[in-house]
Amino acid sequence: MLNKKIKIGVLGVGHLGQHHVKHLKNINNLNLIGIFDINFEQASKIASKYNTKVFKSMSTLIEEADALSIVTPTDTHSLIAKKCLTLNKHVFIEKPIADTLNEADKIIKLADNKNLIVQIGHIERVNPALLALKPYDVKPKFIEIQRLAPYSIRGTEVPVVLDKMIHDIDILLSIVNSSVKEIQANGISIITDSIDIAHARIKFQNNTVASITSSRIAKEDIRKVKLFQRDLYCTIDLLLGLTEIYRIKNETQSKSAIQAPFNYKGNKKIITYEKPILNNIDPLKMELINFGKSIIGTEDPIVSGKSGRDALEIAIKINKLIVEDTL
Ligand code: NAD
Repeated sequence: MLNKKIKIGVLGVGHLGQHHVKHLKNINNLNLIGIFDINFEQASKIASKYNTKVFKSMSTLIEEADALSIVTPTDTHSLIAKKCLTLNKHVFIEKPIADTLNEADKIIKLADNKNLIVQIGHIERVNPALLALKPYDVKPKFIEIQRLAPYSIRGTEVPVVLDKMIHDIDILLSIVNSSVKEIQANGISIITDSIDIAHARIKFQNNTVASITSSRIAKEDIRKVKLFQRDLYCTIDLLLGLTEIYRIKNETQSKSAIQAPFNYKGNKKIITYEKPILNNIDPLKMELINFGKSIIGTEDPIVSGKSGRDALEIAIKINKLIVEDTL
């Protein structure tokens, strides 16, 4: 497969799937052979916009492809992914990997047995505002994350924790190099039958504490991360693409000092401000390029099936705690 283009199809071309189609038309080693959606009218609209073929049967597209992007509602991921894997096809599954841990495990096992790639679309991992942290020694003691969004019917097949908060759980698990020790959570159901607003306090084995809030009934979109550690404070706006870093240093002079040196018990310190220039590559395109490279073995998936499963495990625990608390 090294010299040949990988034949890829997109299953589900709604709000997000159409962007998969757009990017897959422009990635060197991937050849978009067509799309399938149970809504034929939607599939036809996207196919004519991006000049690709509509398949009338999901099975035919899966059979003809080497790999599939699964961009259907969450409660269909597992059934479709297992169908693809059984036919020996690599899968890129939009987040979350599945709606139960048991199904996530089945997907991973099937892929492992057949040596196939399972990659999960936890897109925030490649958000340039978060990638800007790479050069810094980030070891937060306390993290605050807020993800608020106006109501949309999309995603309501699962609780807000599995639809929205799971992004932030994945971010946390990628930043905090420790396992989860304790979780406290609460939330409320406002419009849907499941939890619409959730808050969780997660304590890790290394004593890092994270406070995360997610809502799908908000006035406006907000996606903010704040990291606090002894020598660094960072705010990240994932939506606007802005990363601001404040550091405390022992030096007394620096162009980026935000105020005159201050003195504590004879030690002079300054606070510096940095605003890294962000990479402007589209995160979804970056994930799909990585998927193509993972299939030919030149890269590992940025978010593996196992990482997607780990985020789902915490999300399910949080949602269970909230539901038990509201009974
Ligand atoms: P959507 O409702 O806009 O689109 C889903 C599409 O799938 C629809 O066109 C629908 O007709 C089609 N569909 C439904 N069942 C199908 C089936 N069995 N076979 C084929 N097609 C089917 O939803 P969306 O917002 O595009 O979300 C899709 C997935 O992407 C969800 O899992 C969601 O969590 C995920 N998502 C991820 C992000 C992200 O930031 N990574 C953002 C939005 C959505």
